[in-house]
Amino acid sequence: MTASPTQIPAPGAGTAPDLLAFDREHVWHPYTSMTDPTPTRLVTGASGTRLTLADGTELVDGMSSWWAAIHGYNHPVLNAALAAQAADYAHVMFGGLTHEPAIRLARRLVDLSPVGLEHVFLADSGSVSVEVALKMVLQYQRGVGHPERTRLLTIRGGYHGDTFGCMSVCDPVGGMHSMFSGVLPQQVFADQPPSSPDGVAAWAAGFEALAAEHAHELAGIIVEPLLQGAGGMYVYPAECLQVMREVADRHDLVLVFDEIATGFGRTGTLFAADAAGVSPDIMCVGKALTGGYLTLAAALCTSRIAVGLSHSESGVLMHGPTFMGNPLACSAALASLDLLEANDWEAQVARINAGLVAGLAPVRHLAGVADVRTLGAVGVVQLDHPVDMVKATEVAIEHGVWLRPFRDLIYTMPPYVSSDEDVATICAAIAAAAVVA
Ligand SMILES: *Cc1c(COP(=O)(O)O)cnc(C)c1O
Repeated sequence: MTASPTQIPAPGAGTAPDLLAFDREHVWHPYTSMTDPTPTRLVTGASGTRLTLADGTELVDGMSSWWAAIHGYNHPVLNAALAAQAADYAHVMFGGLTHEPAIRLARRLVDLSPVGLEHVFLADSGSVSVEVALKMVLQYQRGVGHPERTRLLTIRGGYHGDTFGCMSVCDPVGGMHSMFSGVLPQQVFADQPPSSPDGVAAWAAGFEALAAEHAHELAGIIVEPLLQGAGGMYVYPAECLQVMREVADRHDLVLVFDEIATGFGRTGTLFAADAAGVSPDIMCVGKALTGGYLTLAAALCTSRIAVGLSHSESGVLMHGPTFMGNPLACSAALASLDLLEANDWEAQVARINAGLVAGLAPVRHLAGVADVRTLGAVGVVQLDHPVDMVKATEVAIEHGVWLRPFRDLIYTMPPYVSSDEDVATICAAIAAAAVVA
C-alpha cells in the first residue's frame, strides 16, 4: 500500500499559522521551491480594490491578481452572473453539445476583436489558447501544402505561457530554454523591437532579413503586441506591428497576436492591435476575459485560417479540452464585457494612466532606478539591479499595497475601478519598495 494520506499532518484547527504551515510544507505556488519556499500570505477576503489578510491587514491591490481582476473583487454583477448560471447548469461537455453562454460570448468576441477574426476556440487557460494557436498555424500550413513550414518567428523578450509549445516561443534567455534544451521546438528569434520610434527602421530591416532567410521553413509569427508582459514589461512602438503584418503577408506566414495580457483595454485601446490598426490572423485572449473570476481564454482566427487548416489531413482542428466552453466561465466573461462597456473602460484606463504618470514621476530620480514607463493602466519601475522580491513585497505591504515584483521590475497593473487615491497609494508603495529593494 502507498502511504496513507492521514500520515500528512492535517492543517490543524484552521488557524492562520496552522494553514500557513501546511501550505509551506505541501502546496506548490507559482515558480517556487518546495524545500525553500518564499513566504505566502493568507487571504481571508477580497472586495473592490482591497485584499484582506488573516491578521486583518487591508491592502490596496496593485496587481489585479495577475492582470485579470479588472473590475475589482467580489463584484455584485459578476457574482450574480455566476449564481444565475450555476442555478441553470454549471457545466456540460462541449463535444456534441453547445449552449447559450458560449455562443453569446463567441459572438461578443467576434464583434469586439479586430476585423476579420471570426472563428472562436474557447480554451481553459492562456497557455492552452497559445498551444491551440500554434496548432492552427501548423495545421494551416499543412492544409495549404507546406508541411515543411514548422517553425515560428518571434521576438526576444516575449512570454507566451508555461506549457512546452508556449515555452519554445518565450525569450530564449529569460525563459526556460536552457533547462528544457533538447525538448523544446527550435524557433527563430528576431531582436526585440526598439523602445522608441527612432529605431524602428533599423529593427525592421533586421526583422525582414531574418524572415526572408528562414521563410522556407517558417509557418508563422507570434508576438505580444505593443507590451511584452511577463518577459519584462517592455513597451515598443505600434509601427513594429505593421512591419510584422507586411512581413507575414510577403511570405504567407500566419500572424499571431498574443493579447492575453494586453486585451480588454489594459494598454489604452481595447486590444493592442487596435493601436496599430493591424488585424492578426489569429489572436489569443485570456487573463481579464472573465474579470478575474474563472480561468478562460480564447483563440480567434480568420476564415482564411479556418478554411486552410480544414484542408490538413485530419480535416479538423485537433484540440478539445474537457472543460472547453465552461458555462460558468463564459457567463462571467459576458458579465465582465458588459461591465467594461458600462464603466467606460477607456475613461477608467486614461484616468489611471494620468495617476501613474504623476505618481511615478518622482521615482525616476531615485538611486537604483534605471527607467520608469507607463502605458494605459500599466506602471513599471525598472531597477538597475535584480529586485529583492521578498523585501520589496514586505515594504509594499508596510505601505498598504500588494505588489509582486520580479526580475529587475516593480510594476503595477491595478484594477480599472481603482480610485485616484488607490493609484497614489500604489505609486508611493512602489517608490518605497524601489529604494530598499
Ligand atoms: C499570462 C500569459 C499567458 C499564459 O496564460 P495562463 O492563463 O497563465 O496559462 C500567455 N501569454 C501572455 C502574453 C500572458 O501574459
